[in-house]
Amino acid sequence: MKAYTSFDNTIDYARQLDQQNAFSRFRDEFYIKRDTYYMDGNSLGLLSKRAERTLLNSLEDWKNFGIDGWMSGTQPWFHFSERLGALTAPLIGAKAEEVVVTGSITTNIHQVLSTFFKPAGKRTKILADELNFPSDIYAIKAQLQLHGLDPEEHLVQVKSKDGRTIEEEDVIAAMTEEIAIVWLPSVLYRSGQLLNMKMIAEAAHERGILAGFDLAHSIGAIPHSLHEWGVDFAVWCNYKYLNSGPGGVGGMFVHQNHLGTAPGLAGWFSSKKDKQFDMKHDLEHAETAGAYQIGTPHVLSIAPLLGSLEMFEEAGIENIRESSLRMTEYMMQLIEHELGKAGFEIGNPREDWRRGGHVCLEHEEAARICKALKESNVIPDFRAPNVIRLAPIALYTSYEDIFKTVQILKRIMENEEYKKFENTRNVVA
Ligand SMILES: *Cc1c(COP(=O)(O)O)cnc(C)c1O
Repeated sequence: MKAYTSFDNTIDYARQLDQQNAFSRFRDEFYIKRDTYYMDGNSLGLLSKRAERTLLNSLEDWKNFGIDGWMSGTQPWFHFSERLGALTAPLIGAKAEEVVVTGSITTNIHQVLSTFFKPAGKRTKILADELNFPSDIYAIKAQLQLHGLDPEEHLVQVKSKDGRTIEEEDVIAAMTEEIAIVWLPSVLYRSGQLLNMKMIAEAAHERGILAGFDLAHSIGAIPHSLHEWGVDFAVWCNYKYLNSGPGGVGGMFVHQNHLGTAPGLAGWFSSKKDKQFDMKHDLEHAETAGAYQIGTPHVLSIAPLLGSLEMFEEAGIENIRESSLRMTEYMMQLIEHELGKAGFEIGNPREDWRRGGHVCLEHEEAARICKALKESNVIPDFRAPNVIRLAPIALYTSYEDIFKTVQILKRIMENEEYKKFENTRNVVA
């Protein structure tokens, strides 16, 4: 993307960008607190009126239909997970039958590893990276242990050279004959680095390795072509960029090539839909990604996603990405212009093709700077030890929000307002 030749650091310029922003109409559909600058949509997206409506529809269906809500409600629950999977498919470049909305990131990692990690002969190891999210690593270690394998030996974690990013070449160099599966994030949760999933999946396949990705920080922000790239499986949550609400049910992709593989963690919702109520003791699992569900869907935590996904379909994920890149670029320009001497470093990659949806600001006082920001109605999040994440969201953040955020940060630094807080994180950061 071209740099803004006309960039200037005035609020008028921010307002001008807002006027040109085709997504401004979506902003009005979200519940946005007045005079609050919400920069944490990468951790928990805000509620939209459409998501609220589809949640209320499911409550109404329960009220009006009782048990018959499963088949006869306005949003029938029995096929909800598959239907939402099909609606998610365009966001990740998948076929409808390759996607299902179920579980959480962590339970879905357990499912894909239970299904596809089959250590045999020399191939007994899982490859990940040292900057990976803790829950992913806990799940991998637990899976290794279930196979009687020592994680110390069988989990290989690619090192970062700079503490922020992972080089694809280093991942590929670690793909030995002992690796069965490579498991990586699409976008690193701290630095926001976007990995080249296509390159990694191809290199893995050349070496007889399966490639899986955690899309937590890319789904709803960045387009994907999982089917075409040949990614074997992927998981994500829907409560970050997809705005489905706290604890909203997650999602899973399994490539067509693997459909038909029996689920490692089976349950009656793994069944072919028309066989499920035969109540037989031999599972006839679905031939779609639906096979990797386990039990009854959490309907009230799924329903908001329906309304939310409608907005993504209308907006188009390519447009969302374009808009997100502009917003993060603008934010970085403002930060450099306004906060040059305040001791911040931008920790995310600068190139469009290598960065995700958030800006990673590093500062040794990050924990208490975040507290000061919150006191001034800017909502960032903090990731230990020194990262402030700021995520302008294409569908609901305005350029004026970004402008105000940076102005408030500037004031906090100039007046040293952060010094009245302790430099430690809160329980939920
Ligand atoms: C948000 C996030 C999680 C959270 O997992 P849940 O099972 O949904 O609680 C896991 N991994 C990554 C990379 C995340 O960003």
